[in-house]
Amino acid sequence: MLQGLPVSPGIAVGRAVIVRFGGLPAFRRAVAPDEFDEEERRLRRASRLAAEEFRRHSGEAAGDIGMELAAILEAHGLIASDETYLNAVFDRIQRDHVNAEWALAEVTRELGQRFETADSDAMRERAADIQDVAREIARHLSGGDSLLPVELPRGSILVADEISPVDASRLDPRRVRALALERGGPTSHATIIARSFGLPAVVGIEGLCEAISPETPIVVDGDRGTVEPAPSKERLRRSLIRVREQREKTRRLRARTTRAATTRDGVRIVVRANLELAEEIAALDRFHAEGVGLFRSEFLYLRAAPGSPGVEEQREVYESLLAAAAPHPVVIRTYDLGGEKGIGPARGENPALGMRGLRYCLAHPELFDAQLDALCLASRKGPLSILLPMVTSRFEIEEARNALEKSARRAGLSQAPPLGIMVEVPSAALLAERLAPATDFFSIGTNDLAQYALAVDRANPDVAALYRPLHPAILRMLKSVADAGRAHQRPVAVCGELASDPIGIAVLVGLGIREVSVTPVAIAAVKDSLSGIDSTRVQSLVEKALGAAEASEVEKLMRGRP
Ligand code: PEP
Ligand code: MG
Repeated sequence: MLQGLPVSPGIAVGRAVIVRFGGLPAFRRAVAPDEFDEEERRLRRASRLAAEEFRRHSGEAAGDIGMELAAILEAHGLIASDETYLNAVFDRIQRDHVNAEWALAEVTRELGQRFETADSDAMRERAADIQDVAREIARHLSGGDSLLPVELPRGSILVADEISPVDASRLDPRRVRALALERGGPTSHATIIARSFGLPAVVGIEGLCEAISPETPIVVDGDRGTVEPAPSKERLRRSLIRVREQREKTRRLRARTTRAATTRDGVRIVVRANLELAEEIAALDRFHAEGVGLFRSEFLYLRAAPGSPGVEEQREVYESLLAAAAPHPVVIRTYDLGGEKGIGPARGENPALGMRGLRYCLAHPELFDAQLDALCLASRKGPLSILLPMVTSRFEIEEARNALEKSARRAGLSQAPPLGIMVEVPSAALLAERLAPATDFFSIGTNDLAQYALAVDRANPDVAALYRPLHPAILRMLKSVADAGRAHQRPVAVCGELASDPIGIAVLVGLGIREVSVTPVAIAAVKDSLSGIDSTRVQSLVEKALGAAEASEVEKLMRGRP
């Protein structure tokens, strides 16, 4: 039994499909000895095509860009057809009975490690060269650009080292039953997507890809955080019973929570949905969401790459969201690019502290203006609000508002749609009272707020135990925003994962929050938790919790509520 972090609830039984996305992307398949020749043929063909491509580019570069690049590409071509390298890969196919993609990734990784620890810069550069070459061979092996085996078989469990948010968003939830990853954290974006798809997920198991045999049945338990690589027949039978029981429980809970949420003492709490993809629109109705509290629009951008989605393409998506949510409102967050979401940092940079969110948009006005134009045009069709991610200072809101007003004029609107800010950085939380006049509403992103306040990477399993959104320092920041909202009559919502935690939601109600948004599959459970909460009781508990020194004290205090 392998133990990891439980990050998305539920239990699943399925066949393991192993994929390495990090470094060199590859999936693992068991290969019988009578297939070795075929794998060698595929490898040699891919290496020939890659070498030809490098040589062709080298010839072109010599003509227009420069001799230096031409020489590098020429060298890449030589590596791609290097017999020692190819033989090492072929030996690996035979030794481990694995497919060419996997063997190529393994051999390349080992070579890369050897070069990376070398003393000379020239040798270290070779590590990057080999990666580039292997990537090109891998592309030809797969016959295209896709990293995943073309289509995952139905009933698969994806076992991977890590997965980027955009690759996670490309998974088909009808085919994949669960996710088990070596890396990732409780609120990393792949985890959030797993939850949106309702897929059980476990992360943070080192050596996972090696510990599991491809295509064998495994059990992933997203409640306990375990992965069972070789379950017995009896274990499989019991797990399947649990899967059925769970499905039934979820169905009953959903049937019980169709109406708007109120606390036990009758305080009305608005529960909206967080969506990442336009395909999730149907979930609004199915899970009885009161509109969309957060649409993570950057997935539109990332999935449209290369190039960005045009004004008309975006407008269509935003209008379809409004139509599906009517008569409820839709809050669309402008692109939160950067960070772990895909616009990669340079070597040595810290992506979480770099060109992320609003910073990126303000630095790329064509991109930002196109999105604002699409939002303004769509806003004619219904109650649409715009939300800015990663705000740290007031001047950023002012710059964004200027851009929005110009865009509203271009769209012929007499008034721009409401403009709100995400509070997900400590500076914005502590200064909420001074930011309030510049914003129309607040939406607190507890996922990042916890990351930045506690200096804990939300996607790193090594520090997951320190990732405590109920830390009293964060409670004080939440209070700062709630108070600022009340004092300036600015609505305050919470869209981070804390809202779907049973203790988290009690804390939020205690702080006076009356609107939250969560992943659609969590809506029923959140409404159910709310129905057990007494708002005056949690208010007095939160007052005490604000004086705590540790997250564990807060949890203990709040658990004591009747
Ligand atoms: C957050 O940071 O809490 C949030 C809701 O945004 P994201 O998870 O997309 O960073
Ligand atoms: Mg965030």
